[in-house]
Amino acid sequence: MKQNKKYFTCGPTELYPDIGRWLQEAIDQKLFSITHRGKEYENIFSGCVTELKALMNIPETHSIFFMSGATECMERIIENLVEEKSAHFVNGAFAERFYTTAKELKKEPYLLSADWGKGNDLSVDISKDTELICITQNETSTGALSPMEEIYALKDRYPDKMMAIDIVTSSPYVKIDFKKIDIAFFSVQKGFGMPAGLGVLIINNKCFEKTLEMKEMNFNIGTYNNFLNAYKYYTLNQNTITPNVPGIYLLWKVCEHLNGIGIEKIRKETEEKASLYYSELKNVNGIEFFVQEEKYRSKTIIVLNVGEKQKAIKEKLISEGYIVSSGYGKFKDTQIRIANFPMHGVEDCKKIIEILKKI
Ligand SMILES: *Cc1c(COP(=O)(O)O)cnc(C)c1O
Repeated sequence: MKQNKKYFTCGPTELYPDIGRWLQEAIDQKLFSITHRGKEYENIFSGCVTELKALMNIPETHSIFFMSGATECMERIIENLVEEKSAHFVNGAFAERFYTTAKELKKEPYLLSADWGKGNDLSVDISKDTELICITQNETSTGALSPMEEIYALKDRYPDKMMAIDIVTSSPYVKIDFKKIDIAFFSVQKGFGMPAGLGVLIINNKCFEKTLEMKEMNFNIGTYNNFLNAYKYYTLNQNTITPNVPGIYLLWKVCEHLNGIGIEKIRKETEEKASLYYSELKNVNGIEFFVQEEKYRSKTIIVLNVGEKQKAIKEKLISEGYIVSSGYGKFKDTQIRIANFPMHGVEDCKKIIEILKKI
């Protein structure tokens, strides 16, 4: 039975309508049966890397590693780049996970926390012994973002410290100057409109000097997916293990599709839809933006305080064909979160706003 509801959830979310066709084309060509150590696979790998680099303006200084998801990226980053001290800006659940990952790997991370719904104060001083600064650029649990200009300013104050940013729910929309960003990562079931199970780590090759040093000092840098191994295979257009070929193939096709539209157009549309949500819902009774300070409000994850009407609102939206996310953690029953990714159309966005206004 065909299901016609649209997912405006934060991820997994609505798929690109062409995903089925692209998968079928790959199956028809038997691409999921070929060896991952041959020329034919290398073409898929390099096709994907080329389109992704074009889409996100990633320079040759940076490599692309494929992982199982964003959480694996967090683990590998800590394992391969931090002897002891990472510093984490934490204002929600996903930033917290990054911090917890460092603790679980027996590091001694610094915690720089802000309340949920607030922006991070990136003007604070960072401890001298910090090796890596970690920022969740778009915090999916709360809808608060860290403006890229503030991230660059922090990097300018600490040019010798590596910086890793989680862009899971801001990519591909977010515009990044990779001259200033060492590491960024995302998984594909959010803004890229794909089935889950693929993480993408974008990393400056300079970072591997640290990994090599750590290896020589006998730190545990992990096994198959440590950065030295991953880099070696990256240069061969291959992966360390038999990879998620359907994921890599689909990412190639999605990036090709987005490049066809043009990233600037996608950014403009995302901003137009976001400003519709924020302007149209501003004075609606019973609805309040969780992120109060405008400059920290996410363009891609809209989080609304709706109180006890939450269940009724979600049901009404479902009856009109739209599925949105609940709040996260303790806000589960009093908030809704609406994703605003490139595949989410402006007409649907307007309909959701109309439904919310009537409640
Ligand atoms: C969803 C999400 C993650 C986790 O992604 P996985 O692919 O499930 O590992 C990490 N960070 C942010 C900001 C997210 O939204």
